[in-house]
Amino acid sequence: MFEPASEARPTAWPPGADGRDGPLLSVVIPMYNEESALPIMSRRLRGVLDALGDRYEVVAVDDGSADRTAEVLRELRADWPELRVVSLRRNSGHQAALLAGLMRASGDYLVSIDADLQDPPEVIPEMLRLAQRDGLHVVYGVRSDRSTDTAFKRGTASAYYRLMRKLAGRHVPAQAGDFRLLSRDVVEVLRELPERTPVLRVVVPWLGFASGEVSYLRAERVAGETKYPLSRMVRLAADSVTSFSAAPLRIATWFGAAGMVVSSVLIVMAFVRYLAGATVPGWASVFVAVLFFGAVQMLFLGLLGEYVGRIYTAIQGRPAYLIAEDSIVAGESLVGRR
Ligand code: UDP
Ligand code: MG
Repeated sequence: MFEPASEARPTAWPPGADGRDGPLLSVVIPMYNEESALPIMSRRLRGVLDALGDRYEVVAVDDGSADRTAEVLRELRADWPELRVVSLRRNSGHQAALLAGLMRASGDYLVSIDADLQDPPEVIPEMLRLAQRDGLHVVYGVRSDRSTDTAFKRGTASAYYRLMRKLAGRHVPAQAGDFRLLSRDVVEVLRELPERTPVLRVVVPWLGFASGEVSYLRAERVAGETKYPLSRMVRLAADSVTSFSAAPLRIATWFGAAGMVVSSVLIVMAFVRYLAGATVPGWASVFVAVLFFGAVQMLFLGLLGEYVGRIYTAIQGRPAYLIAEDSIVAGESLVGRR
């Protein structure tokens, strides 16, 4: 996960040891068509951050919004010097936008948060304090109550986290979305990962840095509507699973083996009955078997396709995002990643 070598990183790590002059905290906010949430969001966030008493920056990533998000950001920037705007050339999706922001932010600690105030900014200082006090590299925001989400969203989310805990084989905190704090160490490791679009909420636990949790109440979206329709949720889940494990392919092998055992028994049975002259038309069993195995084959064909698709995009090596403009760093390479 490299940005081209031509890009000058602000300064080297570790912070402080070599006169590094980045802010203490970077808040990264991916935004897609958030013009209606932005005014309220920015006011509340700024209140919290100004009260911190430490240097910070806000990295707003405009993920190719089609509404007035870009203009609103420009207006906000006029009297909020800590606000930095990174615009992507096209809508690249929440994960890619988040990654774009993290790769360009320069703080010692980086907090990612949604633009719709579902994650309360008031929790940020708490995360920061916890990380500093206990020397943690990751602090997850854990949703203690999702009653504001629909029953469907809660059900699918809980199934997703159960599955991911199994696959990643590590502590993936349940109900931890993309509201989290990362230290610069973690971000530098992420930068070196060759994976093009890591699903952060499972890759970050997998890295194995010292981590903690802060729980909070997930509020209702303050304005606008969700940018995560079912199709995107399915895509995130498929990406998470296939990026983490080839286990589903192994399930196919087990299915095949079990099928072989069962069918050899059935074949022997059929042969015995045939010899005994007891065969009947039996279209029902044939019908059922054809349907069932047809379905199983299609399922695993689709699964194989998921992996082949990943190989395909990995080999193409297109960047996960393209930067159109960065309000702070001008004139550098604008290709997101290798
Ligand atoms: N988002 C984005 N690009 C997209 C879709 C969403 O940057 O293509 C941002 C969106 O503006 C928000 C965050 O990702 O800040 C989470 O999206 P949303 O609130 O719609 O998801 P939900 O909370 O409904 O899961
Ligand atoms: Mg939301």
